[in-house]
Amino acid sequence: MREIIDFHIHPFYNKNRNVCFYNNTVNSLDDFVSDLKRAGVTRICGSVIERIEVKSFDDIKSLNDEALLMRDELNGYYIPGIHIHPAFVKESIAELERMKNAGVTLVGELVPYFMGWENYYDDNMVQIYSAINELKMVVSLHTQQEDTIEQAVRAFPQITFVAAHPGDKASFLRHLERIKKYKNYYLDLSGTGIFRYGLIAHGVNEVGSERLVYGSDYPICNPQMYISAVLFEKLKEEDYNNIFAGNAKRILCLE
Ligand SMILES: [Zn+2]
Repeated sequence: MREIIDFHIHPFYNKNRNVCFYNNTVNSLDDFVSDLKRAGVTRICGSVIERIEVKSFDDIKSLNDEALLMRDELNGYYIPGIHIHPAFVKESIAELERMKNAGVTLVGELVPYFMGWENYYDDNMVQIYSAINELKMVVSLHTQQEDTIEQAVRAFPQITFVAAHPGDKASFLRHLERIKKYKNYYLDLSGTGIFRYGLIAHGVNEVGSERLVYGSDYPICNPQMYISAVLFEKLKEEDYNNIFAGNAKRILCLE
C-alpha cells in the first residue's frame, strides 16, 4: 500500500469546528477517519479550526486541547498542529512550551482570518517565531498577506514554513519563486490549485519534488479527488513518494 500523509486536514469533536461546507457529510470523528482511510490516507496532520472572535487566549487553548485529545484517541494516526495568536504573545509562548512538552512539533495550519488577525510578520510575531525557533517546531500557514509570509521566512531561516494552497496560477508561481529563494519554504498542495492539470508536474520541473507536500484540506475538500490529482500527473515514482509522504516525514522527523 502507498504511504500517504495528508499534511492538511482539520479534525473536530465539536460540531462548530466542522469546516465541511455541506451539513451531514461528515458528522463525527469516526466519519472523519473512516473517510480518510477509505481514500487510502495512512496518516494526517493539521489543526482544529473555528471562525471565532477571540476574547481571551482560552479560546485558542480550547482548539489546541481538542487537538491533543484527538491525538490520544487516534493513536499515532493524527499528528496535531496547534495555534498561537499574536495578540497574546506571552500566552502563545507558554502554549508553545506546553505543547512541545506534550510532544507536539507542528504549529498550524494557522488561519489568521478565522481568528481575527492578519499579518504573519510584526513585533509580536517575531517574539512568537523566536520561541518556535528555539523549540524547533514547524509552521504550517494559510496563504494570506504574502509579503509578511516572505518577511517571516527570510527572518527565520531555521524554521521550516509550509505554506498552504497553490491557489490560482499567479499565486502558484509566486510560491515557486519563494521556494527557489528560501530553502526553508515549502508548499502544501491542499485547497485551490491542483485541479488545474499540469500544475504539479510544472512545480516538480521548476523546484523538484522535495518541496511540495501532499495535503487536501479535508473535510472542506474531497480527499480522494486530491490523491487522484497527484497520481494522474506524469511524475517519477520517487516524486510521488516525496510528495505523498517523504517530505512530510523529513519535515516533521517522523518514522
Ligand atoms: Zn488554509
